[in-house]
Amino acid sequence: MKNKNAGFNTKLVHSGKLENSLGSITVPIYQTSTFSFNNVQHGADCFSGKDDGYIYTRLGNPTINALEETIAELENGFGGIATSSGMGAINSIYMALLGQGAHLVSTASIYGPSRNVIEKHYSRFGVEAAFVNTTDPDNVKQSIKSNTRMILVETPANPTMQITDIRKIAEIAHKHGIPLVVDNTFSSPYLQNPLDLGADVVFHSITKFINGHADVVGGVIITKEKDLYKQIRDMMVNIGCNMDPHQAYLVHRGIKTLSIRIEKAQKSAAKIAHWLEEHPLVKLVKYPGLRSHPQHELAKKQMRGSGTMISFELKGGFDAGKVLMDNVELVILAVSLGGIETLIEHPASMTHSGISREEKLKIGISDGLVRLSIGIENVEDLIDDLSQALDKIS
Ligand SMILES: *Cc1c(COP(=O)(O)O)cnc(C)c1O
Repeated sequence: MKNKNAGFNTKLVHSGKLENSLGSITVPIYQTSTFSFNNVQHGADCFSGKDDGYIYTRLGNPTINALEETIAELENGFGGIATSSGMGAINSIYMALLGQGAHLVSTASIYGPSRNVIEKHYSRFGVEAAFVNTTDPDNVKQSIKSNTRMILVETPANPTMQITDIRKIAEIAHKHGIPLVVDNTFSSPYLQNPLDLGADVVFHSITKFINGHADVVGGVIITKEKDLYKQIRDMMVNIGCNMDPHQAYLVHRGIKTLSIRIEKAQKSAAKIAHWLEEHPLVKLVKYPGLRSHPQHELAKKQMRGSGTMISFELKGGFDAGKVLMDNVELVILAVSLGGIETLIEHPASMTHSGISREEKLKIGISDGLVRLSIGIENVEDLIDDLSQALDKIS
């Protein structure tokens, strides 16, 4: 938007406006695959098409570009690249930055498929990876090799809620000339801006907080500089994991309430985290807003709030967790997160089932771990529901 000093909420509501002759205050849906040329241009590169304007929706589309511009402004980046899904975003980044025989250093407990695709598929092209506990920057430093081409951090990590110091990892990465990529899905741009802390690339599963209404799958990549933007955009359009105009329109609709949704859910999450910590059947609670969280101080410094995600373990382990998850009535048993409705899930068998049990235990995903994504319902109703389900544990 024109006023670069506008506040976050103003940007949410007013960024990415499209000039349109009818004065529509929402972004129109340009549901078209292709755009007409005024005339044939026969220049030095006669296949480059138009100088200005749109050519073909996989390469760019006004409805999608308006969303990319909005999110780039929220993340203080050079530009945004919208993708068909969060996995489309991470794979565009992997394909752009890694190559045959390249090495990746990453947070061990990242989103399951982000890790799985490296170990199962990129490994066939000779890509190697060190998945380490990035809460200790020394682990990252010691893992860097001459062929390391990318450092990937997810913070807070999924579902361990471990927090990584983005500034410290950025320093290490840049000393070695390696780009730092941050998966910011768990925080959203409202709670954390990794590019301001030194990261080079940030990405989101738009499916989660940014869209926020559990009705769209999507992703977005934001880079700090033009060169990486061009490199990753070129890869994305060639892979063809672009967003669709109608998908982009729905996200425009969802994103406008990002901050009020998170504010409301975050208040409830803090209440529920404290309530769980006091509950006699609960063994431990992982929530950055709790004093008991090992990186509580770092979270306060790096994030503008503690978020809406809670992981916890019951004293009765998996069996007790299963009783809880099978008996909630209001809370929904489902994967995904960051929507307006509260979801509960079992990481070991659901989101992280692709990782071996041995590795899961090593990185802190025990069989008994339960993950909650708090929504915007009345907090008393959520506590009542969790409470009645916990009472079923004998
Ligand atoms: C969901 C998720 C992804 C993948 O996004 P999709 O939109 O499901 O493809 C990546 N990272 C994190 C942290 C996620 O929660």
